[in-house]
Amino acid sequence: MSSPQFEAVIGLEVHCQLATRTKIFCSCPASPPVGRSVSEVEPNSSICPVCAGHPGTLPVLNRRVVEFAVRAGVALGARIRLKSRMARKNYFYPDLPRGYQISQHEEPICEHGSLTLSDGTPVRIRRIHLEEDAGKSSHEFGLTLVNLNRAGVPLIEIVTEPDLRTPEQAGEYLRELHALVVALGITQGNLQEGNFRCDANISMRPVGRAELGTRVEIKNVNSFRFIEKALYFEISRQIAVLESGKPVRQETRLYDSGRDQTFPMRGKEEAEDYRYFPDPDLLPVCVESAEVEKIRGALPELPAQKRSRWESDLGLSPADARRIVLDPDLSALFEGAIVRTTDREVASAISHLLVGEVSRLREESEGKPGALTAGHLADLGSRISQGELSSTAAKKVLGLAWESGEAIDRLIERAGLRQESAEDALLPIVDAVLAANPAAAAELKAGKEKVSGFLIGQMMKRSGGRANPEVLRGLLQKRIQGN
Ligand code: ADP
Ligand code: MG
Ligand code: ZN
Repeated sequence: MSSPQFEAVIGLEVHCQLATRTKIFCSCPASPPVGRSVSEVEPNSSICPVCAGHPGTLPVLNRRVVEFAVRAGVALGARIRLKSRMARKNYFYPDLPRGYQISQHEEPICEHGSLTLSDGTPVRIRRIHLEEDAGKSSHEFGLTLVNLNRAGVPLIEIVTEPDLRTPEQAGEYLRELHALVVALGITQGNLQEGNFRCDANISMRPVGRAELGTRVEIKNVNSFRFIEKALYFEISRQIAVLESGKPVRQETRLYDSGRDQTFPMRGKEEAEDYRYFPDPDLLPVCVESAEVEKIRGALPELPAQKRSRWESDLGLSPADARRIVLDPDLSALFEGAIVRTTDREVASAISHLLVGEVSRLREESEGKPGALTAGHLADLGSRISQGELSSTAAKKVLGLAWESGEAIDRLIERAGLRQESAEDALLPIVDAVLAANPAAAAELKAGKEKVSGFLIGQMMKRSGGRANPEVLRGLLQKRIQGN
């Protein structure tokens, strides 16, 4: 008997750190001063008896946290619960001195949202709930050190139904969700700083079966690429286990990006292990429906809306629009570059530069931003659309602007890259190339259109990339027809 074909079933839990000034239950700062990273802040310097969990202290809920969670809920089309509850999730860890985390369990603030992927798959959002972050333990000098600066930092947890089927879908969901929460202004969204972390749940089942298989949870991966890789690894690991006739063990695993493998961390705990109960120290969280409507009315333009506006008003391809909208740096450059234009050709030239050359340069410089500005891109876009710069020359100029930040005009002059479109200037080049390639010229005369590409390529080369290829094409046509 052949083994059945398996399909993956994936559900994601995202912890998103809210960009409030203060923590969720006290007035300690929730994040480092602007421009500083978490690791630069003196351990245990932004804590107080409340977030350090001293007995006898009382938490007071930060209202901005509630407002931000509602903003996420309405943007994801979720139902907002006007009266929700905080609950204690009991577990022991050195970095959780209270012995419980304050979260939400049975009555989360938002439920039943959804986010649609580009292939049309609706990903249902099961719930969005409020919770506090825990502290951080580190293991050094044979000791465990505890830093509570992060304890009490506000989070929302956004949990999907198991609606995803492939690692690519999971990656796309995460990128979309990330762009959404950043656009909402509720998080700084810094992945390196752990502002947006994902737990991925994955199980396998024979194609056609409705019942879910046993799942594994992969904890706290903070890169979209690594989530995809961890899921790929799990798919082949779980299929191998199932094909050998053994059951998959329900457990929590960690992903090691160096080895590109997941490995077991602990057996998976169940909800009943946490002895959840409503936190008696906190009143129910109440939101007025007028308040919800006010938040809904004040939502900024969301990435999906922005993308379709770029497609319909500026003629961007769906793929380019998506690439740009999901990338905060590229979006900022694009939006800055198109403020003074509604010209579709200019916009499309700019979008091509962004997804092509700009992305390449950024990768080459390992993510460090160059000196390129939106103004440079606007200039390049209009020159390309007016035929003043060939696309090869535009790339070269863009590279120079990335390096030096100098004005486009000056860079074009200095590099001698202004596109040549004058027939008198180009005719000698056409004749020289035809003379140097008599065989190709004869083939073209005999009707072999294919060789014209080769000949124009030679002419471009001879012009140092400056010739306008459309003008060359016209001239070549004329010469072949005997004029
Ligand atoms: P917990 O909070 O204990 O991790 P939940 O039941 O709330 O567990 O599920 C968390 C996530 O796991 C959700 O995103 C859900 O869609 C997903 N999930 C649950 N069961 C499975 C399964 N069998 N296969 C894949 N994903 C699953
Ligand atoms: Mg979980
Ligand atoms: Zn505090």
